[in-house]
Amino acid sequence: MTDARQLVIAIDGPAGSGKSTIAARLAKKLGYVNLESGAMYRAIALKALEHQVDLDDASALRSLADTTVIRLEPQPDGNRVLLDDRDVSQRIRESDVTLAASRVSVHPAVRQVMVARQRAMGARGGVVMEGRDIGTAVFPSADVKVFLDADPRIRAERRVAQNSTHTPEEARRIVEDLIARDQRDRTRAVSPLVPASDAVILDSTNLSIDDVVDRVEELVRQKLSS
Ligand code: C5P
Repeated sequence: MTDARQLVIAIDGPAGSGKSTIAARLAKKLGYVNLESGAMYRAIALKALEHQVDLDDASALRSLADTTVIRLEPQPDGNRVLLDDRDVSQRIRESDVTLAASRVSVHPAVRQVMVARQRAMGARGGVVMEGRDIGTAVFPSADVKVFLDADPRIRAERRVAQNSTHTPEEARRIVEDLIARDQRDRTRAVSPLVPASDAVILDSTNLSIDDVVDRVEELVRQKLSS
């Protein structure tokens, strides 16, 4: 699909809902860039861990965020993530960073810095940005907003299935972490994970990736022809 109009497409949803895969495929189909906002929270969380910054200290985290350069380089299957010019794409997916990202992201001062950067990254359009607050806070006037959800059990199973070498104990911890992270994201005071009032809610529990991509692509087509 090609069109001169460069839309902003917001895809929000909880962990394991399929956002990253859907956003990457959709961006490829549309010739847009795919930006994973969660990778930015992960990157700043990694830096906080490395510098032993207290994850509850909002002002120290804010200073850290202000002085940190995070670059997202869209690749066909996701983002390459550079933290102060160091490739941390793999490291930020590990469980300690995942948990820390969910803790640093509750601080409004940290979110302010990230949201400003995310807006700058998507300002020219032609972007599929995925996260938790893209349709509600980062781009409230996004052209297409999708809230992707799925049954928590299925989301946890998908996460476990991403790596077949997990022991049962590790698998159990992944499920627990996912549920705890969800709870923190949904109940935090600022920019909690909620669907924007004008988002299209898609439940991917019983849908294949292709089905979801087709449905979102249809929304984009409708927007482009409206
Ligand atoms: O999407 P991902 O799982 O990589 O996000 C990691 C964490 O970053 C989430 O659990 C959430 O706490 C936070 N996040 C956020 N707002 C976003 C994207 C991610 O608060 N837009």
